[in-house]
Amino acid sequence: MKIDTSKFRVKEGDKVRLKDWSTDVKPLYGSEEDYQEVLAKHIDSMAELQNLLYAHDRYALLLIFQAMDAAGKDSAIKHVMSGVNPQGCQVFSFKKPSAEELDHDFLWRTTRCLPERGRIGIFNRSYYEEVLVVRVHPEILQGQLLPKEAAEDKDIWEHRYRSIRDLEKHLRWNGTRIVKFFLHVSKEEQAKRFLARLDDPAKNWKFSKFDMGERALWKEYQEAYEACVSATSTDEAPWYIVPADDKHNARLIISQVVLDTLKDLDMSYPEPSCTADEVAEIRKALSG
Ligand code: ATP
Ligand code: MG
Repeated sequence: MKIDTSKFRVKEGDKVRLKDWSTDVKPLYGSEEDYQEVLAKHIDSMAELQNLLYAHDRYALLLIFQAMDAAGKDSAIKHVMSGVNPQGCQVFSFKKPSAEELDHDFLWRTTRCLPERGRIGIFNRSYYEEVLVVRVHPEILQGQLLPKEAAEDKDIWEHRYRSIRDLEKHLRWNGTRIVKFFLHVSKEEQAKRFLARLDDPAKNWKFSKFDMGERALWKEYQEAYEACVSATSTDEAPWYIVPADDKHNARLIISQVVLDTLKDLDMSYPEPSCTADEVAEIRKALSG
C-alpha cells in the first residue's frame, strides 16, 4: 500500500502555522512486523533506483533534514538509507561553522558538499540553520563578519530566503532534485527523549546541557521554522513537515517521499558500449 505523503507537503505560497500540523498521526502500519516489512520494501526499491540514478548519471538527489534536538534526524537517516550503496551516497552533518567557513558567504560551506550527478546527498542540518539558529540567536549573526549594510539590513531574513530559493531553483535546473524534511516533534516528546538519553548510559553522550538552552527557546524556534518553511517551500524544492513523535511513522513517510522523488526522474540505463557483433565476438573469446 502506497502512503499518501501529499498531506505532509507544504505547497508553494502556503503560510505555515505549526500548531495546525500534527506531530502525531494515526500509525501508518498495523504492527511492528508490518512496519518492518513496508520499510524493507521501500528500502529495496530505493536501492534499485539508486543504482539507476548512478548509471544514468544525469540527476542528483539532495535530502535535507532539519529539526529540533532529539527529533530523530540521525536515526531516520540511518534506517531509511540503510539499503543504499554507500558509494552512491554522501552524508554531511553541519555544526557550528569554523573560522574558515565564517570567512565566506553563508551558502559556501554547504555548496562544497552538494552531491555529484548520480549520487544521493544528505544534509543533516544545512544552510537552513542560517535562518533558524542564527535568527533565534542575534549574537550569532553579530559574529558572522558581515559588512555593515548586511548586518544592519532589516530585511536580512527575506534576503536570505531569496538566496536559498534562487540556489535551489538553479540546482533543480541543473539536475539536482531537492527534498526538505522538517521532523516535527512535540515539546513533550522531546522531554521524554532527553530523559531517555539521561537514563541510558549508551545514550548519555547524545545529551548536551546546551540542548536545554535551545529547548527554552522552543517558541522562537517554532516561529523561525514557520517563517522559513513558508518562504522556501517551492514546487521545485518542497518541504515536508513530518510528524515525528512516532519514529516508525516518520521513517515510512520519509522513505515513501524519497522513493516517489526517485521514481519521478526520467532515467534509463545507458546503451551498451559494444555492438551486437562485438558482443558475440567477446562471448566467443570468453567461452573459448
Ligand atoms: P543531535 O540531534 O544528535 O543533538 P545535532 O544535529 O543537534 O544532533 P549537535 O552537535 O548537537 O548536532 O549540534 C550542532 C549545532 O550546530 C546545533 O545546535 C546547530 O544549531 C548548530 N549549527 C549548525 N549550523 C550552524 C550555523 N550555520 N550557525 C550556527 N550554529 C549552527
Ligand atoms: Mg544537538
